[in-house]
Amino acid sequence: MGCNLEATIFNIGRCSLHDGNGLRTVVYFKGCSMRCLWCHNPESWNKKPELLFYPNKCIGCGRCAANCVYGVHYGEGEHLLDRSKCIACGKCAELCPSGALELCGRSMRPDEIMQEILKDRHFYERSGGGVTFSGGECLLWPEFLKELMEACRKENINIAVETALNVSWENVLMASKYADSFFCDIKHSDSNIHKRLTGAGNDLILDNLRKLSHIHDDIIVRVPLIPGANDDDDVLADIARIVNELEGVRGVELLKYNNLALGKGKALDKNMRSYGEPQTEEVMEAKREVIFSVLNKDKVVIC
Ligand code: SF4
Ligand code: SF4
Repeated sequence: MGCNLEATIFNIGRCSLHDGNGLRTVVYFKGCSMRCLWCHNPESWNKKPELLFYPNKCIGCGRCAANCVYGVHYGEGEHLLDRSKCIACGKCAELCPSGALELCGRSMRPDEIMQEILKDRHFYERSGGGVTFSGGECLLWPEFLKELMEACRKENINIAVETALNVSWENVLMASKYADSFFCDIKHSDSNIHKRLTGAGNDLILDNLRKLSHIHDDIIVRVPLIPGANDDDDVLADIARIVNELEGVRGVELLKYNNLALGKGKALDKNMRSYGEPQTEEVMEAKREVIFSVLNKDKVVIC
């Protein structure tokens, strides 16, 4: 496996039950081409490693300021950061005694990630699981991902790809040659509203999804359900009608809102918007029913 390729990875999750069949190892790539107002992982937006700072955990010991030669940490009475000077070396996070600093993302080679994936091989064999490439947007790293997926294929490891599809068709086509299954988002049926909510219209996304659905037959469309933003019954019915036209899409999964992003956004000096509390199970069931009532009977609503 070539060693000159590197990608920024911000997490490798183990034994996930929510990202494909069986137990999954989930590799989270940093970098995203969208800016969803509710994003659960704002630390994934930037392709480069970044420093998170949780002021409520800071005990004011001063170790970070004393050891950062770039002068990022400053302030009298209030702990401030000049992020423009930070090279994300991670030294201050290593020294912080209270967990107030955290470096998000590190450069990894494909062979390093394969080593991690292979550690979980016995889980895949027992559960019918495999690896899921996610993000951020994993398809923003096409050469790297191709190398990694070829290595997984050689090891006979099942591959799932989670993508927002807001990338060039060439990248999607490349992934379609290796992936066993896809999880693709539709966040709104109306392109103008989609752009207001995510920073990108949905034309490229739907175009990619249509093309993919002609050449791949294991695609699940995911809709992150955001209170007041895209959860109207009319919008959900429109999404179900779009899915009905897509041959390779097996079904639709609605994802419950969570507001975990608020704390992470603050730690990155990003203002994330709150959409209230997560939906109750009753609300989720009612929304699934809307999708079910419109969806062709050869497609499923995933609970
Ligand atoms: S990550 Fe490195 S450059 Fe950035 S603040 Fe910490 S010590 Fe300074
Ligand atoms: S090292 Fe950690 S606890 Fe100490 S001042 Fe810096 S952020 Fe606060």
